Amino acid sequence: MHYDVVIIGAGIAGLHTAIRLPKSMKVLVVSKDYPWECNTFYAQGGVAVANSPEDIPLHIADTQKAGCYHGNKEAIEILCNEGPKWIQALIDNGFEFDKDSKGNFNYTKEAAHSSRRILHANGDATGRALHVFLMNQLNTHLLYNTQVVDLSFTGSRVNGVCLYHKGEIEWVSANSVVLASGGVGSLYSIHTNARTISADLHGIALEAGLELKDMEMMQFHPTVYIQGKGVRKQLLSEALRGEGAKVIDENNERFLFKFHPDGELAPRSVVSQSIFEHCHKQKTKAYLDVSKWSKADFAKRFPSIYFAMQEAGVDVPKEPIPISPAFHYAMGGIATDLDGRVLGTKNLYAAGEVAHTGVHGANRLASNSLLEGLVFSARVAASIASKEATSIGFASFNRPVNLKQDGDKDAKERLRKLMWNYAGIIRTTKGLEEALNQVEDMLKCRTGKLLRLRLLASREILSQALSRHESLGAHQLAAHPSICEGKL
Ligand SMILES: Cc1cc2nc3c(=O)[nH]c(=O)nc-3n(C[C@H](O)[C@H](O)[C@H](O)COP(=O)(O)OP(=O)(O)OC[C@H]3O[C@@H](n4cnc5c(N)ncnc54)[C@H](O)[C@@H]3O)c2cc1C
Repeated sequence: MHYDVVIIGAGIAGLHTAIRLPKSMKVLVVSKDYPWECNTFYAQGGVAVANSPEDIPLHIADTQKAGCYHGNKEAIEILCNEGPKWIQALIDNGFEFDKDSKGNFNYTKEAAHSSRRILHANGDATGRALHVFLMNQLNTHLLYNTQVVDLSFTGSRVNGVCLYHKGEIEWVSANSVVLASGGVGSLYSIHTNARTISADLHGIALEAGLELKDMEMMQFHPTVYIQGKGVRKQLLSEALRGEGAKVIDENNERFLFKFHPDGELAPRSVVSQSIFEHCHKQKTKAYLDVSKWSKADFAKRFPSIYFAMQEAGVDVPKEPIPISPAFHYAMGGIATDLDGRVLGTKNLYAAGEVAHTGVHGANRLASNSLLEGLVFSARVAASIASKEATSIGFASFNRPVNLKQDGDKDAKERLRKLMWNYAGIIRTTKGLEEALNQVEDMLKCRTGKLLRLRLLASREILSQALSRHESLGAHQLAAHPSICEGKL
């Protein structure tokens, strides 16, 4: 089959690209699992957007500051300037953000934002509401339960996408290909991400010799309920702290103020690192105290979290919720220009969490990623629409693809533990080197392609982390290596 555009991923970035492309184009959207199994669907807190024209420069400044001034200023300006237009387009098309009793938008506040500029929908189910809304607007062919396992290039042009569907391999060709495959969550043994998010396209990009940037910048969310089975854990939205939830230890001490004057509202990386350090040093546990809400108010404002905690047997809001940081978001990704074109290619684009536009710097400002997905996917669609299509001849794609090998499952679990222990919240050079050696050894073994893609992406994270010798934002080297000794 030949398409004008193949879009890999059905989260906010993929769906919004598809919706913004001209109706005349033949477009295919591919999703690895059911379409809702993506990080967009699980997003809770909301979407950050300037609440007035005067707020735009403040949003820019907050984004730069949270990112430790490591971000690309031009990309940040695009994000904050163009964000209101795309949020307004959603509203004009019928999307409903939560409003207060007077009918005004019920903006909330999250950590490191200097104003209330987070719009949310259905309480703490913003992502689900957005995903359903965008899916309803989609007017193109969507192939689900289909995994992209390879791309084919002729020079700097991508000309084929290899699909794995119901045990069969099939190649399709396209004039343009958009990567919207999300982040890297499943590389870690404790994370908040959808099960589909395993860095496949990062690995494929590395195989093709494409550049990935800021891969050492991995964000760990501070407040995650990590008990229960499985690697995916229940996130406790930043909006909880924004609206007054407190982080305490076993002695009821609000210890975060010892680390940063803003306490619970310090940038995400600071809060995660502080919880990690305090609990290790003081041999204590951390909790989220949500007792400021009544049961009815909590259930109304945070229905998903309320339900999840009831299921887990935590009697919120009366009982504090046991928390730990967990892997959450990749600031780094496949390097693109400001129109989302992958550097070094002519017709390959990337948008959303898979892409590195530079907007997040060394630490993403809370709720900026849904906005990034909207803004940069629109730029990708505009860029594709403005170019004269160069039709690529259909090459013969008969490369054998050995996807799985005996032993891959165990190796995948080992890799996850390596990444969590050594490329986690606080790192040491010794730990990163140890992990890199082990990953190199695993790459020398016979593995299936899917594990190999995870290994390549992990190697890139570890190598880029080793290349950064100072702590910056989410990349935190242990001031006192003893903090990590228990894990080495
Ligand atoms: C629990 C949670 C809460 C969050 N809350 C917020 C929030 O409140 N505000 C905010 O701004 N951000 C939030 N985030 C981050 C935000 O949700 C994500 O960064 C954003 O949704 C990413 O969108 P995306 O379109 O790039 O990727 P995703 O929504 O993750 O979609 C990726 C898509 O790619 C597909 N895919 C992956 N690999 C392949 C493959 N090999 N072949 C085919 N398809 C593939 C997947 O199936 C999926 O359809 C949250 C994240 C999580 C996990």
